[in-house]
Amino acid sequence: PVSNQTTLYVRAMADYCPLQDPAIPCADAGLPFKKGEILQIVDQNDALWWQARKVSDLSACAGLIPSNHLLKRKQREFWWSQPFQPHLCLKSSMSGFRRSMRLSCYSALAAPYEEVVRYQRHPADRNRLIVLVGPAGVGVNELRRRLISSNPREFQSAVPHTTRVQKSYEMNGREYHYVSKETFENMVYSHRMLEYGEYKGYLYGTSVDAVRTVLDEGKICVIDLEPQGIQIARTHELKPYIIFIKPSSISCMRQTRKNARIITDYYVNMKFKEEDLQEMEDSAKKMEDQFGQFFDQVIVNDNLQEASAQLLSAVHRAQDEPQWVPAMWIC
Ligand code: 5GP
Repeated sequence: PVSNQTTLYVRAMADYCPLQDPAIPCADAGLPFKKGEILQIVDQNDALWWQARKVSDLSACAGLIPSNHLLKRKQREFWWSQPFQPHLCLKSSMSGFRRSMRLSCYSALAAPYEEVVRYQRHPADRNRLIVLVGPAGVGVNELRRRLISSNPREFQSAVPHTTRVQKSYEMNGREYHYVSKETFENMVYSHRMLEYGEYKGYLYGTSVDAVRTVLDEGKICVIDLEPQGIQIARTHELKPYIIFIKPSSISCMRQTRKNARIITDYYVNMKFKEEDLQEMEDSAKKMEDQFGQFFDQVIVNDNLQEASAQLLSAVHRAQDEPQWVPAMWIC
């Protein structure tokens, strides 16, 4: 909820283009913005139109943006004006699918702006969780592995839970936490799993508790998540800093990932076909369209060494420098 204070900072949760908005009193006075951008609200006295500046350019004149209330109303009207698309009704019944699509859209629209504050972690505070997100094949796992092995006393992954049987050389709590299917499912239902999946009939997943254990030891926990898990991880307790690992352009990837002569050590064993590259690009675009507003940092993995160095400095910035976080985390 956006409060009534005079200087308010918000994160835009959707894009806005005044030139495409017939309702704006004066399109030239409008402030275009992209999801994820932080806006300083200069004036919110009008119920429909606020004045705002981007924090990335505070010396610029303020421009008009739709108020929280107006943006919500517009998005709702837009949604209801969309034609029904029966081909999207896959397995569920048509009305059921339509209803669930509408409900999920409403909840997404519930907060067109998210109130944010500048947060500087106190050295005595827990470290922030580092979450890496990116399409399959972009190198998320490899970047996480390199970061952790660069300093295992500082960085650690969370020990996953699994329902599979413990092997003789494994130790409970080291490779995995071994739990029954019932326990695992209860953790999923009570939103204690940040992510999970099935492999050969067994469940595997990363729990909130496992992340907390690492943070409580004073280390920086680094995990990778499907973007759907971001919502569960975004709590004041974990204060996740979310880094999107993005593939470079297809033409760059053709060079680095298809041509074995110029690839780095990691990609030698990972040759990508043209359709893999296209799939990676499409998947990255979908992730950015749907979840881009939550990304604190974007790193293009063009070159593994450079991306690793950028990741290391982003992770330290996240812990040591002021960052915009949801106001709800700090109250
Ligand atoms: P294994 O049983 O050989 O230790 O692991 C088999 C597979 O389980 C791994 O290759 C990986 O695909 C999956 N897996 C392991 N840990 C996790 C986890 O934390 N989350 C998910 N979703 N899958 C995992």
